[in-house]
Amino acid sequence: MSIRLQTLMFVTLAGVAALDATPALAQPYTMLLKGGHVLDPKNGRDGVMDVAIADGKIAEVASSIDAAKASKVVDARGLYVVPGLIDLHAHVFHGTEPDAYLSNGMVAVPPDSHSFRSGQTTLVDVGGAGWRSFPQFKAQIIDTSKTRVLSFLNIVGAGMRGGPAEQDLGDMNAKLTAMRIRQHPGVIVGIKVAHFNGPEWDPVTRAVEAGTEADVPVMIDFGGHTPPLSLDELLNTRLRPGDILTHTYAHVRGRHPIVNEQGQVEPFVLAARKRGVIFDVGHGGGSFLWRQAVPATRQGFFPDVISTDLHTGSMNAGMKDILNVMSKLLNLGMPLNDVIRANTAKAASVIKRDDLGHLGVGTEADVAVLAVRKGDFGFIDSSGGARMAGTQKLECELTIRAGQVVWDLNGRAAADWTTVPATPQGTARPARRTQP
Ligand SMILES: [Zn+2]
Repeated sequence: MSIRLQTLMFVTLAGVAALDATPALAQPYTMLLKGGHVLDPKNGRDGVMDVAIADGKIAEVASSIDAAKASKVVDARGLYVVPGLIDLHAHVFHGTEPDAYLSNGMVAVPPDSHSFRSGQTTLVDVGGAGWRSFPQFKAQIIDTSKTRVLSFLNIVGAGMRGGPAEQDLGDMNAKLTAMRIRQHPGVIVGIKVAHFNGPEWDPVTRAVEAGTEADVPVMIDFGGHTPPLSLDELLNTRLRPGDILTHTYAHVRGRHPIVNEQGQVEPFVLAARKRGVIFDVGHGGGSFLWRQAVPATRQGFFPDVISTDLHTGSMNAGMKDILNVMSKLLNLGMPLNDVIRANTAKAASVIKRDDLGHLGVGTEADVAVLAVRKGDFGFIDSSGGARMAGTQKLECELTIRAGQVVWDLNGRAAADWTTVPATPQGTARPARRTQP
């Protein structure tokens, strides 16, 4: 109702201003984000610009676009307008199966309940489903969510079910994993190895084999092996350029930390970056420590991609949401443009989805409008909750998915209530009800 009223108002204004224009051409845009600071690293945009949307796509980005051309105008002054954020490490294969952990279990969360409120339009589930459980993941979550959900298949065919299932070398089949990926190009965008604690390299070897066959990267959650396996060997011998180490700033038993006891980033870690290995945050409930992140970033070792490792164990602890994790990096000195790049253009290129993560004309209109709040803030890590003070914090004002407003913190895209007619809303109630 409010949109229609606004439409009428703008049609009238446009009609006065441009008598010669036909009404259809007068308002080619469904939405105009006006006066925001556009950060679109892939397209080199960094400045105050207007962004117009039509037919669910980015229609025009320019220093000034006439407000009369749009049926809805959103004032974005003082805010940052960025591509819809991509979370490269989330767990959203939510289900109700007892003891199924992150594969149709209750530790994973439903995507739409977390994504849009943090400016995220794409969540990548890493390892929830394996080649055998992917059809259920697709039917249950991918096809029913408004959020764009992509998948890294677990090298374990059954997926990330926890316990013995994740130790079963007999259920790690490179050929069938690659076959499933080729059935869903662009939706399955990688392969995950996690939680294996045996002495063998086989899970990594098979994931890389499948990744080579299907032309996708692998992501490794490393550590916990008995006896320990070498992180240097993983990063510099086993992985290919473009493959991903997640939990970069972790210090857990059974995995070499990236910052050594002398406080220096290990030379073999720097060498791995040089050869193109991708370093992901993967904050989670136990994988982001100030004791690692502060010295590493002081030496310039910032992450390539910033992700949450979202699940019920991280969302109410130090991680919270993607904007909180991005705010940590901002307060550690990572420039805002680089923080945004890590969650947009860079994340998209890592998963070979270069259609995502930017505001190029003609791309699907996934947009986040963010505020950078200034003040006294505190951020806690995953070591049991050590605090670091900060002065900046990102907040999501508005999220647009395929041209539709899906999150609007302060009603910036809504009409004032006094302009809305006092008519009944929605459909008539059914004649018989069992609930009052
Ligand atoms: Zn994870």
